Amino acid sequence: MKIICIGRNYEDHIEELNNKVPEDPIFFLKPDTAIQPQGHPFFIPHHSNDIHYEVELVVKINKTGKHIEKQFAHKYYSEIGLGIDFTARDIQSICKKKGLPWEIAKGFDGSAQISRQFFNKHSLDLSNISFHLTKNGKIMQSGNSKKMIFSFDNIISYISKFYTLKIGDLIYTGTPSGVGNVEKNDTLEGFIGSQKMLEVTVK
Ligand code: MG
Repeated sequence: MKIICIGRNYEDHIEELNNKVPEDPIFFLKPDTAIQPQGHPFFIPHHSNDIHYEVELVVKINKTGKHIEKQFAHKYYSEIGLGIDFTARDIQSICKKKGLPWEIAKGFDGSAQISRQFFNKHSLDLSNISFHLTKNGKIMQSGNSKKMIFSFDNIISYISKFYTLKIGDLIYTGTPSGVGNVEKNDTLEGFIGSQKMLEVTVK
């Protein structure tokens, strides 16, 4: 399986990082080794002093496809979960300045947190999914799928122009504003609506 992450999909987050609104979805990959095993703490990697959380809705692909038209994209996923795209912001800033790829800032072990539970998409209003992240009990990020610049179907259609999507692939669909850093012993909790989806302790 592969992990595909969308960058810059919420205007409020684009503003907080001084980026530009993209014309097409921006995406990058994490290796499957980035997935954190359920229940394990997140260990801050040695190569960064500024690890940020980014809470994101995650689409799980359930059908193989390439060149998927937007109108048929809904047939390629049935479940939505929640994840955290951990980012070494200090390393990413250096990469961006030098015009280099972001992978070492984004794909390290444990950088892809994923909820154990996924919602069947038919139990959700896909254009109005609220989600949030707390750090030590305080709300740090709140988002809603209605604020996504590119919808789930748009994203799937666009990515599949370049990459064959396969069963089990995960698409992280971008983060709203409020990203920030983590320190040892922080506890992060992610929610869709009022349903707690994931909890991770930082070590
Ligand atoms: Mg992200």
